[in-house]
Amino acid sequence: VNVFYRPLEKINAVIETYPKGIAGFRSFLDLMATEPDIADAPEARPAPPLAGHVRFEGVSFGYTPGRPVLRDLDLAVAPGETVALVGPSGAGKTTICSLLPRFYEVEAGRITIDGIDIRQMTLASLRQQIGIVQQDVFLFAGSIRQNIAYGRLGADDAAILQAARRARLDTLIADLPEGLDTLIGERGVKLSGGQKQRLAIARIFLMNPPILILDEATSALDTETERAIQQALAELARGRTTLVIAHRLATIRDADRILVVTERGIAEQGSHAALLAADGAYARLHGAQMQAG
Ligand code: ATP
Repeated sequence: VNVFYRPLEKINAVIETYPKGIAGFRSFLDLMATEPDIADAPEARPAPPLAGHVRFEGVSFGYTPGRPVLRDLDLAVAPGETVALVGPSGAGKTTICSLLPRFYEVEAGRITIDGIDIRQMTLASLRQQIGIVQQDVFLFAGSIRQNIAYGRLGADDAAILQAARRARLDTLIADLPEGLDTLIGERGVKLSGGQKQRLAIARIFLMNPPILILDEATSALDTETERAIQQALAELARGRTTLVIAHRLATIRDADRILVVTERGIAEQGSHAALLAADGAYARLHGAQMQAG
């Protein structure tokens, strides 16, 4: 399904309807950096190649004692399914996604992938199979080749160029006099926000993980760039178990399933059409978007 390729009119209005949480946006890298306690269990084994059957079973979690964010959450995502998480700021969408790569430890319940508790897998083997696309793109000073190959060290040029093509980055590379050898960063070419995002997407194509977490951008790029990125993301999600943290309803209409996450848990779930017909929380969010637009 073409989840991400959507016209972008009216989406800014939706963002405005979500109050800004005090925590605001935190990058997954930040999360990793602030969580030194998580380590391999003594009995942890490298995960086998995963199909991506994700299950949260009775999961409870909070960042501070006495302030639970998730209570007894149950969620099953089939291999290849795209599930979009929508809902008010602070409801726990990012938190749900942060638990899957084990940036935090569940307090109760468990998370399994293909039936294996993620605590039984080594962290490296778990995280190697979860691609994360977020707003903040981590680039280092070096060539475009090196920056894409960060997704799979040792990848050859053919694989790198194929990933770039699928990420809609190939025309940019072709236009640069030094192609893949073009240096970026401080002393090299400065990439635009949209180009950086496509570079990040190219990395994940190269990484080829069975599971994907997409933290959708809160602000729109120009329409042309946005369309290229949405197309690339739709292609990236195809065949992978995908969790989308959605800030804009317009981009997730074609998700296999939409979950409305509130402080009380999953309030509602279903397809876009089914949720509109149910005339509940999602329909209200959608109505607010239409009106605001
Ligand atoms: P948004 O749409 O704004 O991204 P969200 O639905 O993703 O919101 P979370 O970011 O998961 O919500 O936040 C859920 C709750 O946990 C909020 O009350 C938030 O303030 C709190 N929270 C999130 N991250 C942390 C953290 N690192 N430390 C303490 N509290 C946190």
